[in-house]
Amino acid sequence: MENKFKIPAQYGKAFKVKAKTCLKLVNTHGTQVVDCWAFNSSNVSEFMCMETSRVWNQRLNPIIGDTFVTNQRNPILTIVEDSSPGIHDTFMAACDSKRYQLLGVKEYHRNCADNLIEAMLDFGIALDNPILASFNIFMNIEVQDDKKTLKTKPTKCRPGDYINLRAEMDSFVVFSACPQDIVKIQGSNDNIPKSINVLIYENNDNFNSIQIKNSWIPD
Ligand SMILES: [Zn+2]
Repeated sequence: MENKFKIPAQYGKAFKVKAKTCLKLVNTHGTQVVDCWAFNSSNVSEFMCMETSRVWNQRLNPIIGDTFVTNQRNPILTIVEDSSPGIHDTFMAACDSKRYQLLGVKEYHRNCADNLIEAMLDFGIALDNPILASFNIFMNIEVQDDKKTLKTKPTKCRPGDYINLRAEMDSFVVFSACPQDIVKIQGSNDNIPKSINVLIYENNDNFNSIQIKNSWIPD
């Protein structure tokens, strides 16, 4: 079964999916950065964790075949397709109200942290706190030549680029079309946030050839 959803610019949406469901996130306009979170749907205190995933994969920028794991180090999402230039980020905190205050915004600004909270409330789940360590899909955070310094740059995606994520457990998966319009992360020259599309593939065998890799251990 396939279902297609549009997430408006600056908004988020949660999907409740069974293990082996694939979620294909399409960068419709090619300019949009998308924050992503995932939770064990039977226990949301277990959630996708950037810190443990970096240990598991030994990679700062995950690629096809890499698996994200939870704060209990269980596999939760695997990248099974990626038509984009493959530039994603696991460093940067999701934007929140305080971030926009620090950027000089006086009034309320939509933000990814609140989008996560709102999206989960659609399923009746009130998170105690937003999780700021999101997987920032299509976000271009460049490690500089000194191997220490980061540089925030616009996404390098093209219209229609997509990433496909396979759920490895029954999960909530949340996407937020990042409302950031001050720091220049969106690919358009005007830095205006845009909508994204999500396609859901349930019980689809096309993406099962990629096996979950074991956690890294030293040689
Ligand atoms: Zn954001």
